[in-house]
Amino acid sequence: MATATGTPDLKNSHAALHSRHLAVLPDWLATYYQEPIELTHGEGRHVWDAEGNRYLDFFGGILTTMTAHALPEVTAAVREQAGKILHSSTLYLSRQAVDLAERIARLSGIPDARVFFTTSGTEANDTALLLATIYRRSNQILALRNSYHGRSFTSIGITGNTAWSPTSLSPLQTLYVHGGVRSRGPYAHLSDAEFTAACVADLEDILGQANGQVAALIAEPIQGVGGFTSGPDGLLGAFKRVLDRHGILWITDEVQTGWGRTGDHFWGWQAHAESGPPDILTFAKGIGNGLSMGGVVARAEVMNSLTANSISTFGGSPITTAGALANLTYLIDHDLQGNARRVGGLLRSRLEAIAAALPVVTEVRGRGLMLGIELAEPAAANLVLEAARAGGLLVGKGGRAGDALRIAPPLSLTIAEAEEGAAILEDALKQAQSQLD
Ligand code: PLP
Repeated sequence: MATATGTPDLKNSHAALHSRHLAVLPDWLATYYQEPIELTHGEGRHVWDAEGNRYLDFFGGILTTMTAHALPEVTAAVREQAGKILHSSTLYLSRQAVDLAERIARLSGIPDARVFFTTSGTEANDTALLLATIYRRSNQILALRNSYHGRSFTSIGITGNTAWSPTSLSPLQTLYVHGGVRSRGPYAHLSDAEFTAACVADLEDILGQANGQVAALIAEPIQGVGGFTSGPDGLLGAFKRVLDRHGILWITDEVQTGWGRTGDHFWGWQAHAESGPPDILTFAKGIGNGLSMGGVVARAEVMNSLTANSISTFGGSPITTAGALANLTYLIDHDLQGNARRVGGLLRSRLEAIAAALPVVTEVRGRGLMLGIELAEPAAANLVLEAARAGGLLVGKGGRAGDALRIAPPLSLTIAEAEEGAAILEDALKQAQSQLD
């Protein structure tokens, strides 16, 4: 960066920004790169940094850019709304909030559904846990090992992935069940049917020992921060049959898996649907295409068990609901779920072929445009991220030890872009392999 006189503008340089960032933000704030990227704008599936470099975004922001960066329909809806009123709160009616709630209630698959808007996934899960504990008069929660549900005191307390759960002091008592991770642990060698039976036996065993009643099971259908891992299809449905016998609620955390991302289904829970829909569904991330929006859907009986007054001041604001409505309309009108299935299927085959020749890759998994690549060690993931960045590609990281790559581009990804990204990734994986050899 240079000033009008041609001398370097050190005060406003990227390096100066980085050191100011380090001085003022907390040390625990997760960033990916040795030299963080300063993003300035995006379009479609691409983003640009302050130095003018263009990147193909294989992480969709952080699964937040659901349709496309700077989608004109969303931008226009937000602009129009911003010219009218920025905020009115749930004390007043808003046409677009009601329209959006009706659409989400219908899409949720939950009968007699009520919708409550929040500003994030964490707040949505907090609300779901509040509803379940009030409805069941119990503060015992079942969660999956390796799970992630947010960063509030409550959601950190139930998060099973210890890398993201710095305290065990929780207002809730949490019991952890097997079921989210196939590649490691005592059940790793089992077939789908055996794995499901072992996890159900684990659940029965835990419930047999629980002192008092359990309020709910909360589960991500595919674990996000956990590295895009999941149990076999049908597992959560098999859990539900046991839960129903005890009157325990099923909360599906769809913060990463919702809106057709998994290709085969609109929600992740639908891969487990044989014993019926969940009682509570939470969503966030993609629905706002980057706007700060989350929410909870629950059967009216469960939603209305909260009898105290409650609002989320910015939840369901006119701006976020206008943008989310335009985003959801685009997603459905352009069948981006079908695109995720088709392009995601091709991308997965391509990644499997690349992985076959590289021992550093231990597994390729996932469905639709939610694909995980497990690596032999966490150091490999960092090497791949840096090499991919240098090649013009952004990917995500996750897993129990930070040893998995997460691929979750905007759902409008084209076949040509999938091929371009796979080629950059292949090169980055080869570089990591040779550095580790
Ligand atoms: N639930 C899941 C499955 C998530 O992946 C996340 C965030 O990554 C959350 C909840 C928390 O959402 P937020 O960061 O919007 O609070």
